[in-house]
Amino acid sequence: MKTFVMKQIGQVGFMDKPKPEPGPNDAIVRTTAALICTSDSHTVKGAIGERKDLTLGHEAVGVVDRVGAEVKLFKPGDRVLVGAITPVWGDLASQAGHPSQSEQPLGGWRFANLKDGVFAEYFHVNEADANMALIPASVPDESAVYCADMLSTGFMGAENAAIPIGGTVAVFAEGPVGLMATAGARLLGAGLVIGVDAVPARKELARFYGADEVVDPDDAVARIMALTGGRGVDSAIEALGAEITLANSVRVTKAGGTISNIGYHGHGEYVSIPRVEWGVGMAEKTIRTGLCPGGRLRMERLLVMLERKRIDPTRMTTHRFAFAEMDKAFEIMDKKLDGVIKPLIAF
Ligand SMILES: [Zn+2]
Repeated sequence: MKTFVMKQIGQVGFMDKPKPEPGPNDAIVRTTAALICTSDSHTVKGAIGERKDLTLGHEAVGVVDRVGAEVKLFKPGDRVLVGAITPVWGDLASQAGHPSQSEQPLGGWRFANLKDGVFAEYFHVNEADANMALIPASVPDESAVYCADMLSTGFMGAENAAIPIGGTVAVFAEGPVGLMATAGARLLGAGLVIGVDAVPARKELARFYGADEVVDPDDAVARIMALTGGRGVDSAIEALGAEITLANSVRVTKAGGTISNIGYHGHGEYVSIPRVEWGVGMAEKTIRTGLCPGGRLRMERLLVMLERKRIDPTRMTTHRFAFAEMDKAFEIMDKKLDGVIKPLIAF
C-alpha cells in the first residue's frame, strides 16, 4: 500500500509498505480523509528525535477494513473517527486519569511517533473498542476528521484554563488549535475572549469562532491589560508553542488565574517563565499542560458537537489535495504558504 513517510530528519516522501495486520483487540482502517498538522512538521524537523521511514500523520477518519477477534463494537464497513491519541488504557497512567501519558510521558501519542501514522491507504488502530467512534450519518468525513486532534486539543485548552462563566480569556495565536480553543472558551461561558494573531485571515476566523477582540502580537500584553481594565485575564491559553507567547500568557494572567498550555514547544533546551510577573513564584498562577485527549467517549462527545451543529470546523479547511499530492500539501503546510490553515487530504 502507498504511505507518506518521514525518511529521516528533514526528509519526507512516498513509500510502499505492506498492509498492516490486526492483533486481537485492533482494527485496520481504510483511510478516507486526513488532515496535516503542524506537529507533523515539528516531527520531520527532529523535535522528537530521529525516525526512519515512519509513516506520518495522526488525524484521520476512515472505514473499518478488518477487526481482531476480540473487538466487540466495530465491524468491517463502519465509518469511524480515530483519536490522534490512542492509549493502551490498561496502564497505570491511564488508570490515574492521564491516558494521553499512557505507559510513558506522551505515550498515548502513538501514530507517527511510536508507530506508523495515518498518511497511508490503511492504518492500524490499537485497542479499537476504546480508541474509535462511529461517525453519525449526518456528519461528513471532512468535518469529523477535525475531532481527531483539533477539536479535542483546542477544547482541552479551554477546559484546562478553568474559565469562570463570564470570565476573561486570552488565546495566544489563532492557528487551528487556537481557533478551537477560542470556540471552546465561548462554549464554556467566557464573557470576554481576546485572540492574539497578526494574520488577517486568522483574525477573521478567530472572530467567526467567538473572539470578541483580536489584538496583534506586538502589543498584545498592553492591549489585553487595557481591554481588562488593567486587571489581566482569568485564563490565558498558549496555542503556539513559543517562548514569548508562554511568557506573555503568564504576564497577562491575573494573580490566581490559570495559564493553559497547548502549544508544542518544538525547539530549544528550556522554556522560561517571567519571574516578576509570575509573582516571584507566589502569585497563585497555575500553569496547566496537556496532550490531546483521546478515547471513544471523548470522540463521541466531540461528534455530538458536530451533529448538533454547535460548531463548524470546516471553515478552517483552506486547501484540499488528493493523497497522491501529499508531498505538495506537506510543503505548503510546512512552510505555511498560500495562507494555509488546514489542508484536507482526500483518499
Ligand atoms: Zn495534529
